[in-house]
Amino acid sequence: MDARERARARVVSHLVCEERSLAGERVDRRGVVGERVQVDGAAVAGGEQRHEEQKETEAAHGLNLPHRPDFHARGPRPAFSRIDSLPVNDVIVIGGGFAGVTAARETTLGGASTLLIEARDRLGGRTWTDRWNDTDIERGGGWVHWHQPHVWAEITRAGLGVELGEDAQISSWFAGEERRTGPITERDAIAERGWNQFVDGVEGALPLPHDPLFAREKLARFDGQTIAERLGELDLDEEEGDVLSAELESLAHGRLDDAGAVAVLRWHALSGGSLALTQQTGGRVTFLHGTQSLVQAIATKAPFETRLSTPVAAVTQEDERVEVHTRAGETIPARVAIVAVPLNALGGIEFDPPLSETKRAAIELGQASRGVKIFIHARGEPVFTNGIKPGHPFGYLDTEIVYPDGTQLMIGFGYDAEICDASDLAAVQRQLDEIIPGYEAIAATAHDWLADEFSRGTWAIHRPGWYTTYHAEMQRPEGSVIVAGSDFANGWAGFMDGAIESGLRAGATALGL
Ligand SMILES: Cc1cc2nc3c(=O)[nH]c(=O)nc-3n(C[C@H](O)[C@H](O)[C@H](O)COP(=O)(O)OP(=O)(O)OC[C@H]3O[C@@H](n4cnc5c(N)ncnc54)[C@H](O)[C@@H]3O)c2cc1C
Repeated sequence: MDARERARARVVSHLVCEERSLAGERVDRRGVVGERVQVDGAAVAGGEQRHEEQKETEAAHGLNLPHRPDFHARGPRPAFSRIDSLPVNDVIVIGGGFAGVTAARETTLGGASTLLIEARDRLGGRTWTDRWNDTDIERGGGWVHWHQPHVWAEITRAGLGVELGEDAQISSWFAGEERRTGPITERDAIAERGWNQFVDGVEGALPLPHDPLFAREKLARFDGQTIAERLGELDLDEEEGDVLSAELESLAHGRLDDAGAVAVLRWHALSGGSLALTQQTGGRVTFLHGTQSLVQAIATKAPFETRLSTPVAAVTQEDERVEVHTRAGETIPARVAIVAVPLNALGGIEFDPPLSETKRAAIELGQASRGVKIFIHARGEPVFTNGIKPGHPFGYLDTEIVYPDGTQLMIGFGYDAEICDASDLAAVQRQLDEIIPGYEAIAATAHDWLADEFSRGTWAIHRPGWYTTYHAEMQRPEGSVIVAGSDFANGWAGFMDGAIESGLRAGATALGL
């Protein structure tokens, strides 16, 4: 057995373990789906039956199979055969989020021996299906939509199921300090009046939203602005201004005087120019078995080797060869490196020779998201409720699940992780009273993506100047180093879809180098 065969053998045992644990996780999730559908008796039978059908579909797509013999029969393809005799990987992918696993799958299926190196002890990056309070929760990204072409194609390919969230039965919003309540349609009508002004002109600036620089000159006007500057141009009354600001804080997941206007305008263009679709693409449809089911489906479609808990410290290049240096002091050579880590974490990796001046400036600039996604187990009226309030530590708050005992799981989005501490339940209670009074906070949790050194932020919200100055340059390979990730996608940057788009592009580029 040569080094490559030994590596493949290790991968096989890794895949067997991963798929067994996935199957185990599914049993848990079925419990949760059962709990959720009990709220509506009519939905119970349908939900269970749908789940069984789904399980069969997934099994048919190979997700339950511990072993895929076709992988082992296939040898390396000629494109990389020149290095067959060397114990050198063709490709090293740094970062095991959606972009990294997609890139690793693509290069492996293209015949390149591939090693994926991930700093955390799990794959998935800024998506993380976790168990809390007897419920499967998504601490990071969770929602997907059929208007997101790359992720939807992968869902189809893997045979995964999705489910639709409930509409809020009661909605509340603020005009100054006055809290107003009504049906969600009334709130959305107020939001839409402001939204239509906010997005005016975007169809000319982003006529091909998956090619953001297509109308570069028209885009430049918006690209120079923060969201706050764009808001300052609009003619809004107090209620319209507060509702729109709360919506924008939840979308930007950061400060409005820091986030670029284009970061949000893009969602509108990508969502067919409608506020309703913009809201739906980012918050209605979830995976039946969590985001982890898609991460695993992609990762197990090709036999690349994976090393977890291995932070990378540096990437060096010499004579058409790269070396990846881990923090633990190991040096691993390869022909090509795909660096699929978040923009705000790229500064943690040293490059020698240094990346271009423009790339270094882009890394220095970073992206503006710094928000929180908080989960609150609350007791109160057992209805699906939604409350928004600008400037609040979790100013976009929604019921996600009403449990059979009448308590509920709320998910809140706030614009600054530093003003929201989920571990301080007394503070969470005070803040809950300010936005949706009448509920008791029983427990709360949040992952601090801002303090997390492997993300340093949440979803990509680019700062002014990003698109016209940095976007194209970040996609340009330098020698044998390719930067990838959702933060650099053309279309749904800041979403799982963008990560997959970027991973596909990086994989194809690596195979062509
Ligand atoms: C709270 C939150 C909510 C979100 N909601 C949604 C949503 O509803 N829908 C949606 O589509 N998207 C959502 N997103 C965004 C989405 O999760 C991300 O855009 C996408 O998952 C990013 O994928 P990626 O592979 O580009 O980056 P990541 O997932 O961040 O993967 C990068 C990987 O690189 C690793 N890494 C970093 N530094 C190093 C190093 N030095 N060495 C080795 N490895 C390293 C990281 O550990 C990570 O695993 C959300 C994100 C967050 C945080």
